[in-house]
Amino acid sequence: MKVVALVGGVGGARFLQGLKALGADVTAVVNTGDDVWMHGLRITPDLDTCMYTLGGGIDTERGWGRADESWTVKEELAAYGAEPTWFGLGDRDIATHLVRTRMLRAGYPLSAVAEALCDRWKPGVKLLPMSDDRVETHVVVELDGETKAIHFQEWWVKHRAAVPAKSFAFVGAETATAGPGVLDAINEADAVILAPSNPVVSIGTILNVPGVRDALRKTEAGVVGLSPIIGGKPLRGMADACLDAIGVETSAEAVGRHYGSRKCSDGILDAWLVHTGDRADVPGVAVRAVPLLMSDVDATAQMARVALDLAGVDVD
Ligand code: GDP
Ligand code: CA
Repeated sequence: MKVVALVGGVGGARFLQGLKALGADVTAVVNTGDDVWMHGLRITPDLDTCMYTLGGGIDTERGWGRADESWTVKEELAAYGAEPTWFGLGDRDIATHLVRTRMLRAGYPLSAVAEALCDRWKPGVKLLPMSDDRVETHVVVELDGETKAIHFQEWWVKHRAAVPAKSFAFVGAETATAGPGVLDAINEADAVILAPSNPVVSIGTILNVPGVRDALRKTEAGVVGLSPIIGGKPLRGMADACLDAIGVETSAEAVGRHYGSRKCSDGILDAWLVHTGDRADVPGVAVRAVPLLMSDVDATAQMARVALDLAGVDVD
């Protein structure tokens, strides 16, 4: 059973744990729109969160970076006043970044780097960057009386998404090519699942890579999404600030409608899962309500099982 999941960072990684527990052959198409250069290092937050979470190296409290981390390099950089001081990389994590940056500088594409890093972590699912090209999410904001575009990380981490976003710009997306294996995986899948990741800056970014939306619309696999919005709120994180910026209400129904039915132009869903107690009417899409709290791997596997079932795949 070949399953493709579109994923961001924390929400995506947790969902992948559930899919993996079902014994599925999983290929994850991972958002790289959060990627950025800092202190001379290439940072790929969502790929690392997936790799560390599935490989058992994640700091589970923080949800990102390495367990048993120390922060000596960060303190030393701060002592130099080296900007940006608002972004922390732990000492262990820096080793990952050194390997990645060195490989990129030697000419390897990001997909090859991800594969090499996964040789160590053995996440048990294939992690494919959505693109090897540089695609970076920028946020248009009003800062110090000026309208300007800042990198998504600056908005998310430094400003905690508290400065209202006027719009998002997916810099480089238009001319990007899907990463090696991405479109083939979608074409050849038995099921395609949209993880309960951020609909705008995780899933939305992946959908902006040329060819991906088309592949989702054409694949013979069933396409099923899980709502990241429960009871009108995102869980952990500030997805509501992203939805506000694109004029979509923070509700399971509005996000389902935003993705839309494969029967309608541009839509990508056959089925949409919402949390028990939430309701959604999404024209042309089968909606089911089941528990969507990823409190542990068993609970997550349970919702993954329902998603696969709705995609027409028999899990047992
Ligand atoms: P990020 O890249 O680290 O921000 O992570 P993702 O984009 O993959 O996931 C973030 C989204 O996951 C947020 O919008 C949350 O609402 C959603 N999320 C986090 N935990 C849960 C959960 O237990 N259940 C559901 N349904 N959504 C969740
Ligand atoms: Ca992310």
